[in-house]
This record gives sequence, structure tokens and C-alpha cells, in this order.
Amino acid sequence: MSKREQFLPYGQQWIDNEDIEAVVTTLRSPYLTTGPNIQQFEESVAAYVGAKYAVAFANGTAALHGACYAAGITVGDEVITTPITFAASSNCAKYMGADVVFADINKDTYNIDPADISRKITRRTKAIIPVDFTGQPCEIDVIMDIARENQLVVIQDGAHSLGAEYKGKKIGSQADMTMFSFHPVKPVTTAEGGVIVTNNEQYYEKLKLFRSHGITRTPYAEEQGEWYYEMVDLGYNYRMTDLQAALGSSQMKKLDSFMKRRRQLAALYTELMKDIPGIRVPSQLADTNSGWHLYSIQIDQEVTGKSRKQIFEAMRAANIGVHVHYIPVYWFPFYKQLGYEKGLCPIAEQWYAGALTLPLYPKMSDEDVKDVVHTLSTVLQDRMNTDE
Ligand SMILES: *Cc1c(COP(=O)(O)O)cnc(C)c1O
Repeated sequence: MSKREQFLPYGQQWIDNEDIEAVVTTLRSPYLTTGPNIQQFEESVAAYVGAKYAVAFANGTAALHGACYAAGITVGDEVITTPITFAASSNCAKYMGADVVFADINKDTYNIDPADISRKITRRTKAIIPVDFTGQPCEIDVIMDIARENQLVVIQDGAHSLGAEYKGKKIGSQADMTMFSFHPVKPVTTAEGGVIVTNNEQYYEKLKLFRSHGITRTPYAEEQGEWYYEMVDLGYNYRMTDLQAALGSSQMKKLDSFMKRRRQLAALYTELMKDIPGIRVPSQLADTNSGWHLYSIQIDQEVTGKSRKQIFEAMRAANIGVHVHYIPVYWFPFYKQLGYEKGLCPIAEQWYAGALTLPLYPKMSDEDVKDVVHTLSTVLQDRMNTDE
């Protein structure tokens, strides 16, 4: 089988000269961190998603940690999330000493199933952390209704969904707090970085406190002196640098064009693969517009006659960077030793067995997509031929 000359990764940033200029300009400026670029970047994200406030963090995981702090999550609380996500979505609750409860996924959207959230609410439940897996929005309206009825806080993990839409609105204005990540594979990048957006002023104040050691300057400055500050709670140094914020503001200008390109490429994948036996293309919930962070297919081994592992290895051998997102979080040794057992979320586990991520990022060409599909078809046919 033919092999690509260059490895095609599953995701990659797109940095242009304008981005580089923005960072270099900041390097020559008086502020390398906590300067004017931070506020500008925060404002650009808040304005884009239609939220009142945004607080930038060193990375998305730190941002989730901050949101859990602002929500008041503590020892003895339960936090409900999905197992089909990056470990940070549940780790942030562990940082606060809370217990994580995993709700199963919907078999069509692969996102957390609101009905299973309802089943898993107890007197100890404090918060829900739904994830917009692959960029497809979770059913946030339904989840918010469940949360209001039960007085729970909703922290939406939108690491995949900056730019995605739910019922015509950008992700970021519906939940109590929403996290966006700016890791290089994510919709836009700051190398490392994260943001929490919220419409709640109290959360906003707590997020700022937590990001910088729990230190505040107001309201004490006047009665003391200009030098005075107080540490009022145990916070962290979770600040983003001005270099990163400069890159972020420059990247935000490209978000819409990146989204457009991701959607074109995803549509092309779907068109080319819809008739391949044993391959299930992702389906979209009505009234949503995915950000297409990932293109995740399901492989039905009974039809293809090849296991996910065989297909994965053959694709990698052809220099195509397929991947698997995600291993159910509670299967990891850290969670296993806390008592979680296999079988907890059967739909998620069955889904995982057949999941394969195909490369998708704005800089890819149509030819790249065709090449991936062609290689996949060849891999599937190979087996059929050797079987005969
Ligand atoms: C990337 C990611 C995070 C964490 O973001 P970082 O910026 O890498 O810390 C959290 N949740 C999900 C679903 C992610 O994909």
C-alpha cells in the first residue's frame, strides 16, 4: 500500500506571519505577563461567544480547576461528567476533593446523556461538567433545566467547541461557566492556555482571585497604601503570559475561517465515507453546528472483518495519524484504584471499542481527506482479498 511522504497528524495549529508579529511585538514591549494583552484577549473571547466576562488561565485544565473553585465544589460533593473525554474534565473535580460520578453517553451524539445525568443525581451532587465532545455541542438546554431543578452548577467543558453553535447561539453563554482550551490542536491556540467565560459576576471575581494566589488589591488599598495587598484564600499562579494572549487575540481573528474550513473538510469526509460498509460517520444533533474539533468514526468489526487495532496500525503504517479519542476515563489506574469498575457506562465502553479519529484541521487540503479515505478503503479491502 502507498505511504504518504509526510506524516499527517490528527490535528495541528495554523500560525501565520501576523501571529508571529503579534508575539514579537509583545516581546519588545514592557509587559511579558499580566499586561494589556490579557484583557484584550479576554474581551475578544467574551465578545465572540456572547458572554459578559472571560478570565484567561495558563491552560484549560487550570481554567477548569478555577471554575470548580468558583462553583464552591468541595470534599464530599459529587460532580457528574462523561467518561468519553480528556481526563482533565473529571480531574478538576478531584483537585477539590470531590467524588466524580460518570454518566453514560448518548449512542448517536457520543455526548453525555441528560437522562443518565438525572438518574445519577443524589443529595451530594454539586455540579455537572458536560463536554462538547468532538466540537458537537452537548444538550445544554436540557442539562441547564436539570441543573436548575436540582440547584446544581454547570461547567461546560468547551475545549473542543469554541466557535460551535447550539440553537443558533455560540457555545459559551448558556452554562454557568464554560471553559475553552487553547492547546495547539484546539480550535485556536495560545500554545498553552485556557479561558473561563461566564455571565456571573461572583464567579468572575472568584476566578480572578484563584488565578493569582488568592491575592486581592481591593478594597484595602485606600485605607492602607499603594503597596498593600491581601491574600484572602489559597489560590495558585495560573496566569497566562502576555505573549500567549497576543497570539490568542491574533488567532481569534481567524476562528471563523478555521471553523468554515473544518466544516468543509468534515462534510467531505462524510460524503466520501457514507457508503463504506462497516464505517459509521458521525451524526449531528438537530439545531447544532459542530466545531468539528475531531472527526470520529465507528468501525463495525463484524462488517469490516478488521479490528480497530488492525485498521489503526495499517493507517499509521501509511503515515496517516489516526488516533483514538478517548479511553473511558474511569478505566485509568488512578480512577480504578478509587473503585470504579468496567461496565459502569456500557454505551461509552461499546462506543470506545469501535472509535477511530481521522485527521482533521484547517490546514489540511481536500486531497489529504481523499487520501485518508482512499487509504482507509484500501485497508478494508486488503483484508477482504486475503480472506478469499
Ligand atoms: C484539551 C482538553 C482539556 C484541557 O485543556 P488543556 O488546555 O490541555 O489543559 C480539557 N478537556 C478536554 C475535553 C480537552 O480536550
